[in-house]
Amino acid sequence: MKRSQKLYQQRLIRNCKKKVLSFNYDEWLELAAKRQARAISKGLSSKKAKQKYIDDHRYIAALDTIINGWCDHKGLTVRFNRKSGGIYYSDSKEILVSQNALPKYQVMILLHECGHHLIGKKQRHERYGMGYAVSNAGMMKTLHHRIDIVDEEFEAWHQGWKLALRIGALAKCDKSTYDKTRVIMMKSYLEWALRK
Ligand SMILES: [Zn+2]
Repeated sequence: MKRSQKLYQQRLIRNCKKKVLSFNYDEWLELAAKRQARAISKGLSSKKAKQKYIDDHRYIAALDTIINGWCDHKGLTVRFNRKSGGIYYSDSKEILVSQNALPKYQVMILLHECGHHLIGKKQRHERYGMGYAVSNAGMMKTLHHRIDIVDEEFEAWHQGWKLALRIGALAKCDKSTYDKTRVIMMKSYLEWALRK
């Protein structure tokens, strides 16, 4: 093993042990190759496994476009943690995305979080108001708050998709995958908002 190769592997192992990762194109590709090998060893045809790898590759390129292109330009830090889904911290301009998700879903989640950034604090206060209308009291106030949050969630998905097309991270043919992710995520938000 060459020294550079060894160093690279050491870095990979170190990074794997860390709880929070930064995006690295080569490491993401390496993980995709490992998934491909694992899928073949579990009996998936090499043709199908190769197709999965090609898909992964495309979405890893999309992550690169979003993170090293757009997010960097906007001063947003993107990192990957071990929790599911994603989160956007407006004060620190930081986005966390699940490292357990496949690149495809990492892209969708990341775009959604970028959508929250695009909505911005001003619009958030003006349009969504975060549910604290003075006239509302008790349960209705809480419901109003939850509906406002759901409203912002829908908008963040919408903004995320527009961004994906604008910066060329995804193409129109990705809309159905994007929508599937949106529907799954929104389902749990809606259930939460309507709970008694
Ligand atoms: Zn959200």
